Amino acid sequence: MSLVEDAMNLEMTAEDCDLRYWLAAVPQGTLRGRLDGHDPALTVPPHMLAPGPLRDALAREYAFRSAAEDKAARALSYLVASAPSTATMEFYATQVLDEARHAMVFRNHVVALGFTPDEVTALAADDVAAVLDPLEEFALPIMRTDFVGGVVMMAIILEGALAPTAELAERKWRPLDPAAAEIDEGAGIDEIRHLTVGAAIAKRHLEAHPEERDRVAELIRRGMRLWTELPVHEVVRRREVLFQQGLEQHANVVGDYEVWPGRRLVDTTPDERQAMADRWSQEMRESRLAYIGLGEALS
Ligand code: FE
Ligand code: FE
Repeated sequence: MSLVEDAMNLEMTAEDCDLRYWLAAVPQGTLRGRLDGHDPALTVPPHMLAPGPLRDALAREYAFRSAAEDKAARALSYLVASAPSTATMEFYATQVLDEARHAMVFRNHVVALGFTPDEVTALAADDVAAVLDPLEEFALPIMRTDFVGGVVMMAIILEGALAPTAELAERKWRPLDPAAAEIDEGAGIDEIRHLTVGAAIAKRHLEAHPEERDRVAELIRRGMRLWTELPVHEVVRRREVLFQQGLEQHANVVGDYEVWPGRRLVDTTPDERQAMADRWSQEMRESRLAYIGLGEALS
């Protein structure tokens, strides 16, 4: 469990991850020669280009995630504006670019599967309206006016809940579309940085301003309640059912590949994969909340 485990165990601050660090680690590091998020030698295999449930599953998943990254990039720009220090301003400037880039590579990969850019938008439209628009409506007024509220909203409610889906994506697409798995792996490395630095900023802020704890805890409570009211489960479920149909058609490509130790991907079910991602989500959120000192306030 690389992404989730690293995000739970690492400690990195905005000072560790300032602009200079990012320039060396990302544009001159993980992205060097990989502007599309994967080794350019990896092309889309024929079974991913054939119309059918497998291609649709990836196209819908990435179209949705591209829209989520796009909204995240826009919302995060408010934290650049309101950042209280140079280190936090630089960190959020890099996160805005990271998310804009994630939106781009997910979108471009759907285009590589044979869809037009307009079709990419249309593929996700219903799910965006059902899940992402209400989340945005909830989060934007906070992001605009309340720096630490926005930090927590992003790291605990939005990214913290979506990161485990990315972990699942990397694992399940690995044998079927190695370029997609590399895109997810790269985005996952960025997410670890976003989650850990966001949590460190929140932790420090709440240590310095304990009088804000109740207010921030209430924001998190409201955010967690909203998640339970949105049809997130249905959206992920539809995606996993399509994936299952594609998996059954292309079981020969997947072979004995294990999605996690001791479990062959071809033997898994939509419910099982979804339950694993849910478990990771919950563990991640709990560990982040404990780290920022709000574990008890919210248990
Ligand atoms: Fe992202
Ligand atoms: Fe992120």
